[in-house]
Amino acid sequence: MPLNFLSTPIDYLNGVGPQRAKLLKSELHIHTYGDLANLFPNRYIDRTKYYKVSQLVEEAAQVQVIGKIVNLKTVGSAKSERLVATFTDGTGVMELVWFRAQKHFRESVKINEPYVAFGKVARYGATYSMAHPDLELLRDHRARKHSAMTPVYPSTEMLAKRKITNTYIVKLMRRLFDEIQNAFVETLPENILKELQLLDKNRSMRNAHFPESAAYLQAALYRLKFEELFYIQMELLMQNRIRKTKIKGFVFDQVGERFNDFYENHLPFELTGAQKRVVREIRRDMGTGAHMNRLLQGDVGSGKTIVAVLTCLLAIDNGFQACIMAPTEILAQQHYAGVQELLEKTGLKVALLTGSVKKKDRTIIHEQLEDGSLHILIGTHALIEPKVQFKNLGVAVVDEQHRFGVAQRAKLWKKNSLPPHVLVMTATPIPRTLAMSLYGDLDISVIDELPPGRKEIKTVHRYDKNRLSVFNFIRDEIELGRQIYIVYPLIEESEKLDYKDLQDGYESIVREFPSPQYQVSIVHGRMKPEDKDFEMQRFVEGKTQIMVATTVIEVGVNVPNASVMIIESAERFGLSQLHQLRGRVGRGAEQSYCILMTGHKLSSDSKTRLQTMCETSDGFKIAEVDLKLRGPGDIMGTRQSGVMELRVADIVRDNEILALSRKRAQELLSQDPTISLPVNANVARVMRFLQNKKGIWKYIS
Ligand code: ADP
Ligand code: MG
Repeated sequence: MPLNFLSTPIDYLNGVGPQRAKLLKSELHIHTYGDLANLFPNRYIDRTKYYKVSQLVEEAAQVQVIGKIVNLKTVGSAKSERLVATFTDGTGVMELVWFRAQKHFRESVKINEPYVAFGKVARYGATYSMAHPDLELLRDHRARKHSAMTPVYPSTEMLAKRKITNTYIVKLMRRLFDEIQNAFVETLPENILKELQLLDKNRSMRNAHFPESAAYLQAALYRLKFEELFYIQMELLMQNRIRKTKIKGFVFDQVGERFNDFYENHLPFELTGAQKRVVREIRRDMGTGAHMNRLLQGDVGSGKTIVAVLTCLLAIDNGFQACIMAPTEILAQQHYAGVQELLEKTGLKVALLTGSVKKKDRTIIHEQLEDGSLHILIGTHALIEPKVQFKNLGVAVVDEQHRFGVAQRAKLWKKNSLPPHVLVMTATPIPRTLAMSLYGDLDISVIDELPPGRKEIKTVHRYDKNRLSVFNFIRDEIELGRQIYIVYPLIEESEKLDYKDLQDGYESIVREFPSPQYQVSIVHGRMKPEDKDFEMQRFVEGKTQIMVATTVIEVGVNVPNASVMIIESAERFGLSQLHQLRGRVGRGAEQSYCILMTGHKLSSDSKTRLQTMCETSDGFKIAEVDLKLRGPGDIMGTRQSGVMELRVADIVRDNEILALSRKRAQELLSQDPTISLPVNANVARVMRFLQNKKGIWKYIS
């Protein structure tokens, strides 16, 4: 058998004519024997199991039921005409329904003979019904040999229309596997197969399509998932290594005066264990001579700012400048105020550069940047304007990465002979397992511990009809001197309606909380930036007690005196957004509250989201739930990565296999960095193949 047997064009397989070959190619990208073999079932139907009518539930996928047809009649007229059979097994009655080929079934169906009906059940009122069932006489069914599990392959509308059924694909697959026998070449090293007791490649492939038993199916899928994830990890780790050896960075090997002085004399609090660990990771990174590109994940309030400041000090100690970039003017101002305060006694020079800085001040900043007398520049996008030239930018800290595009980050690079080290900080946690498989080009640090003494934000769900008691609560809190956020959703598709909701809400709040006793701010995306900042500033300064806003306040604004976050139409927000919004409160010493307002009708996903919010404040847990609800497709960055192309593994369900595959890949590379030991010959061969970026399922020899 030739080695590239699997690359035989699909047209050569018996039963695949030119028409069907064309369809298989255009619809499922199946060009070769190997492509077909790597079309994995979406699921399996257990056809050894029979249901009683009394056991049926609507959501059951496809089931088979043994029973007799006791009555057959045509109902409806013209377009709605259908053939309906009454089917019973003694435990209950269900209907079998045909819309197409009614004549054929009317003539061929036998009354009062035992049948096996197989299909998907739906429920209409109290009656279960199965449309276009697979119907087989029980005696024929018994005479046939059954594989325990029938594979169900992915299909498309076009294929269904052109009669390329699952049964047809199953037949093709049988033929294929009869022909190719054991044509697959092992891709995993012997020692891993042994130690993890993985099934070999050929047996796994066969069992993935035609399981010998449920246990073998499980073993086969486990192995194929491991293989898939292992090679993704190998590629990511190799890319990362290439980046580290090829892209040079400044060497910050001095931990000097500034850092030590600050650390010993000016630190306002003891760092948490997590902060210390992360600072160590950053120090180690910037001392190697490789370029640092690190993602710092930490929940809102976990204390990322101080880490950013210490990172800047490391650069300064080595004779470089630093910058901190924030997505909005207010945030930049807050960072500036915070950093200024922290570094007050150190004699370091910090400046703020935003769109609203006057030309005169700007010129001074430009000069000080160029002569090196300015140590840290904090600002917005204004930092990446061409006019802004550093003498020697050593590190760039970018806050809230999801607001900054890759292109913008790259602009920072252009300002130097070598790219400055980059620390990207985000409060939108991505589940670790996903982050691992997403960001091959980033190293990741996590602050997974909050500073001591934080009070849990009490989170509750209230229905619209309880609004009055919520208003009373607001009144009480304002009485205590606190401030309140009330946030409305803003979804682009229904922008007009949303603004109406916001305006109506604002008016009713102003009615409930009239001036001069109360002052209410409003901020939304349609306001001019100056007006927005003005209103925001009034709230920051405590001149207004209530802030009515759309999600523009989502990002990092710090008003420690705000202790209540009310989210209107909370069911319309995604989990990570709800979590971000809640993070706006709980920043001061007082007990804080988050109230999720909704109407009465809630989908089950909405309920899960609200419940999750009420039960936990752990951003990583919330991210895990979010991922389960939405799938990885919606989460930032997944589209560009290989995760979306997984064929057998599931990034959420299989995260243990993912972690294991990553560990084995790391071990392999640390023991055999060049992948040249004989034991790893299989891996070397596959990696050479993968350099052409084809993905493990295209690997054939
Ligand atoms: P975020 O990660 O959301 O940017 P910040 O850096 O703004 O968080 O920190 C939130 C608050 O916690 C700030 O008021 C900061 O001074 C305080 N803080 C940070 N680290 C510690 C710590 N180790 N101990 C006590 N308070 C801390
Ligand atoms: Mg912050």
